[in-house]
Amino acid sequence: MSRFWSDIVHTLTPYVPGEQPKVSNLIKLNTNENPFGPSPKVLDALKAETNDVLRLYPDPNASELKSAIAQYYKVDEANVFVGNGSDEVLAHTFAGLLKQDKPLLFPDISYSFYPVYCGLYEITPETIPLNDKLEINLDDYHTKNGGIIFPNPNAPTGQLLSLTKITKLLERNTDSVVVIDEAYIDFGGASAISLVKQFPNLLVIQTFSKSRSLAGLRVGFAVGDPALIDGLERIKNSFNSYPLDQLAIHGAVAAIEDQAYFEQCCHTIIATRNKLSQQLTELGFEVLPSATNFVFAKHTVENAEEIALKLRENSIIVRHFKQVRIKDFLRITIGTEDECQALVDALQQILTR
Ligand SMILES: *Cc1c(COP(=O)(O)O)cnc(C)c1O
Repeated sequence: MSRFWSDIVHTLTPYVPGEQPKVSNLIKLNTNENPFGPSPKVLDALKAETNDVLRLYPDPNASELKSAIAQYYKVDEANVFVGNGSDEVLAHTFAGLLKQDKPLLFPDISYSFYPVYCGLYEITPETIPLNDKLEINLDDYHTKNGGIIFPNPNAPTGQLLSLTKITKLLERNTDSVVVIDEAYIDFGGASAISLVKQFPNLLVIQTFSKSRSLAGLRVGFAVGDPALIDGLERIKNSFNSYPLDQLAIHGAVAAIEDQAYFEQCCHTIIATRNKLSQQLTELGFEVLPSATNFVFAKHTVENAEEIALKLRENSIIVRHFKQVRIKDFLRITIGTEDECQALVDALQQILTR
């Protein structure tokens, strides 16, 4: 605390990211990073840009990247916004589109950055409870609102909503912006980007951090109607002209162009996820159906926080949330097959002791 702080600083409850441990011999299944490195073509692109060009400012509009994303999703460049990780894209979305007089609706169990941005931008949140199977029920999103945001698949539960259900919401909710945070969509869902041309109030946000193995490069993007994108550009250009550096722009272009590598990584992670879900079930866990690169699982007998502590003693870190409704669950990132097998072996020991 300091008397030099602005008033708002006193009111903030900042987001606390999952631990990034300094020791290296841990099996890290706590922040949903991809267990595989980025495409070799990304590393080549980064090396190719590591020269005297770094003397210059990067393209403030990151046009090459916008164009690559537009081509990939068969939309126009005017439909694409890019930012320093999807967290920054989300922040600009809260400031530029979701800050309205009426409250912003989002699930009670969801990405914990949403309430943080509400605090920062002084937006009134109205949380809508997940149903008793911990699913989002879009029929519950019918109150007067200044916007709606939810991840699909949801985090940290991992469950997916169909495009049919999302279309129904969009047909009904036409007077405010609907934001779909698709951080995990490549692990088993259909993207709502296909609906953007039909619904001018739909904004879809994605990231290169999970399915494209680039959490360290910080690249995220949004796809929506040009008028929404224009609003985001006005915020961005009032904040930081160069959120994406030269390396990030070219690394991300190379990532989106290497379709084969991307598909292979996603395919492997999905197969490992299905195997791990089965093994966890056999160990006495209830595992929610996941369309992501993590599973959300609750042991029928043992305490989740204690399991997490014991795994930690075995050099394996998973994520436990203290929120009452989900305190019995662990969120476990899908690692390599070997990492997941090590987890299963450790759990076997912990649970039979
Ligand atoms: C990981 C994650 C993000 C943030 O991703 P970055 O692009 O790394 O900032 C956003 N939303 C959800 C739901 C996530 O899980």
